[in-house]
Amino acid sequence: MLGSDSLLGNKLAPMASNTTQTSRADETGSHWEALVDYSASLDCIRCGLCLRTCPTYTLTGRESSSPRGRIHLMRAVGEGRLEPDAVFAEEMNFCLGCRNCESVCPAGVEFGQMMNHTRAGLEMSNTRSPKGRFLRWLGLRVLLPNRRALGLAAILARLGAQTGLMKLVTPLLGSTLPPAEDLPLVPSRKQRRPLAARTEAIGEQQEEVILLEGCLMPVYLGRVNRASVRVLSATGVAVLAPSKAGCCGAMHAHNGDSEGARKLALGLMAVYGSPTDSSGAPLPIVVNSAGCGSHMKEYAELFEPGSSDHAAATAFAKRVVDWNEYLEPRLHRLPASPPKDAIHKVLGRGDATWDAPCHLCHGQGIREEPLAILDAALEKAGIHRVPLHESESCCGSAGSYSLTHRGAANELLEGKLDNLEASGASLLVTSNPGCQLQWELGVRRRKLDVRVAHIAEVVAATLPS
Ligand code: SF4
Ligand code: SF4
Repeated sequence: MLGSDSLLGNKLAPMASNTTQTSRADETGSHWEALVDYSASLDCIRCGLCLRTCPTYTLTGRESSSPRGRIHLMRAVGEGRLEPDAVFAEEMNFCLGCRNCESVCPAGVEFGQMMNHTRAGLEMSNTRSPKGRFLRWLGLRVLLPNRRALGLAAILARLGAQTGLMKLVTPLLGSTLPPAEDLPLVPSRKQRRPLAARTEAIGEQQEEVILLEGCLMPVYLGRVNRASVRVLSATGVAVLAPSKAGCCGAMHAHNGDSEGARKLALGLMAVYGSPTDSSGAPLPIVVNSAGCGSHMKEYAELFEPGSSDHAAATAFAKRVVDWNEYLEPRLHRLPASPPKDAIHKVLGRGDATWDAPCHLCHGQGIREEPLAILDAALEKAGIHRVPLHESESCCGSAGSYSLTHRGAANELLEGKLDNLEASGASLLVTSNPGCQLQWELGVRRRKLDVRVAHIAEVVAATLPS
């Protein structure tokens, strides 16, 4: 059990010793409430069960970089025993937001929400440099909400890095951009084409859904969206993809931009609010990105309880369903597969393995459905699934983490690649765009003969052409 602040490391600055919790609360009013969710921090019973599951604790061995340590810091700030200075902010931002700690916590601590709260509070205190504020504005407010701008920026970044031009602007950007070979390839314009506004069901239509097209997915992984639609359509589901729908705001919420997150959530709720089925009920919203789905299921957390937006977000969240969750009960509707050889041309013949995205297993508690789907698809191809050691631990992608904390992200990825090599698999399957791009980077770097695929691409490979 943690009993002393000394365990948290000596870089953190305690408050002046004569400052009491009561007097400081009186002095500062709501400022500290904005910074930490103090009552939620009291849920932690300091058992320490989360420590060994926490990637940043495993990397550093530091209590302050563990879930228990971070909660202790939040509590200390809330009680006026610790100055929420740059070191405190650094420790909060060092967290991946992977929520692995939530999966093992016996007290039900909602760590992800606590961290979102604290990051939003830190952003309000506006401690970033002008350059940091500009980059943040550019990424969160200009690029992510605008698919065209994001696509253009991705192409320019890759070209700039390849030609060396990026070195000219690097002093302006700081060390934000990784080296050229680490940037994901931007596929052709054809690959980046948007989804059809409506894709009809194959055969008799049994249901109708909306699919979240996303922000990064159409730029880098349009093929995953198309595979997701193709599979749904093959099960008798018509799929809508309204062109006005954009970013869900997950990256904003996880990076403390709660105003931006609210704006994007309201925008998506408005676009997805109207389509209904024949009985007048709103359509389910299927999400093939674990990070987005996890966030959209928690939209209500963005709004004041009791407000009309909170009520609307609560109703909206009930419609959100992960692609795996939606498909698994409908697997029996998939048509007969082509011969194995045809599937092997896409997936290869070697063993496959599953890496669970954090926001699927820890964020949404979805574990069995993707395995059932994957096993059914692999069986059709005569491909074996082999286990991946620590398949529920973070690959280091974690939204923008691989840009902001490149060293730690790379270390985590290296560990995952070791596990992949030990598994002997030549097909790595995941269900989140950030994880998929991170794995592709790792496989490219190590020159491994491994295909990386979204689970929808694996199932699509088993459909007749
Ligand atoms: S969210 Fe992940 S990185 Fe952050 S404290 Fe929890 S386990 Fe550690
Ligand atoms: S497992 Fe939960 S209760 Fe135990 S130390 Fe970690 S956060 Fe606190």
